[in-house]
Amino acid sequence: MKDYFCTGSCECGQTRYAVTHEPLFTHLCHCTRCQKRTATAFYITIMVPEKEFMMISGETQNIFSTLDNGAQFGSHACPECHNYLYHTNMNYKGIIMPTGGTLDDTSWLDPKVHIYVKSKQPWLEISAGDRTFHEMYDLAEVWPKESLERLAAI
Ligand SMILES: [Zn+2]
Ligand SMILES: [Zn+2]
Repeated sequence: MKDYFCTGSCECGQTRYAVTHEPLFTHLCHCTRCQKRTATAFYITIMVPEKEFMMISGETQNIFSTLDNGAQFGSHACPECHNYLYHTNMNYKGIIMPTGGTLDDTSWLDPKVHIYVKSKQPWLEISAGDRTFHEMYDLAEVWPKESLERLAAI
């Protein structure tokens, strides 16, 4: 596993993935759809270029839905335990969004950006200094320059 930046797996362990380089960005989404989808308070959204993501065992079952803005949204789950391993969004072509909770090691995660805080759970306190957005942000204003350059090269 040393060649990978990180690996992730579903609850039953049958379906596994790897990410080869440091992700472009990580944020937390507090929208009500993500709360439903993850069955908890927010979705840890990790964004990686498609070519830096690979399945290392098993195959996902792919379910597609349409978001409020009309974009096609893909949910990719283990066919056995139905854990969502990653998502795709037609508005972010070439990007895979592994679900942070499925990482085998989450110790490196340090998300500092929160989106859709308008529907954040009221009992959840955001750390001082974190950036919060009512809804989504403009990538050019929030992502580091290096990530924007990698995104432009996709
Ligand atoms: Zn599974
Ligand atoms: Zn969301």
